Amino acid sequence: MLFQRGKKSYTVYTVGAPVLKRIAQPVPVVTPEIRELAADMLAALRAFNGIGLAAPQYGQSLRMVVFDVPADSNTGTVGEVTLLPRMPLAVINPEIAALSDQTCEREEGCLSVPEIFAPVVRPARVVFRAQTLEGEFLEVECGGLLGRCIQHELDHLDGKLFTDRLAPEAAGRIRGDLENLRRMGQSTNYRRKSR
Ligand code: ZN
Repeated sequence: MLFQRGKKSYTVYTVGAPVLKRIAQPVPVVTPEIRELAADMLAALRAFNGIGLAAPQYGQSLRMVVFDVPADSNTGTVGEVTLLPRMPLAVINPEIAALSDQTCEREEGCLSVPEIFAPVVRPARVVFRAQTLEGEFLEVECGGLLGRCIQHELDHLDGKLFTDRLAPEAAGRIRGDLENLRRMGQSTNYRRKSR
């Protein structure tokens, strides 16, 4: 028997969608539904070629994030050394326990803000605290791309996008494109589909 496996299409919500502005709710317990959501979010992350996806971007106002940060981005912090080999990684109720005084600027993009990129200044390292779906508690210092991605994804859980964190000059540069994106979103209900 021959099975034709239709490729599933995934949806992420784009700027203007109310779910992206909400404060997401903690995940009290890992149910089969939560596991399924994590698996779907990981599949969506792959379909969109992303490195991180927060549940609100997937339409669920929950404190859950999936990461798939490339191993070759390792700058040597303990968090990168321990977590990058474990990618892809799904976590619930993640927090930033501490931030470095040192900051760095890096270009960011977002699956919810397609085709717009701009430099964002953020702390260079963070102490990341989270729980895996298996109930393991993580608390590690992360820098590099992973540290950056953690901060970006955790912002989503508090209703913030990277475009809310731009310096005035960069904000001015993307304002028109962002407005267009918001306007276009009205006709698609702020849904972006993977191929
Ligand atoms: Zn994002």
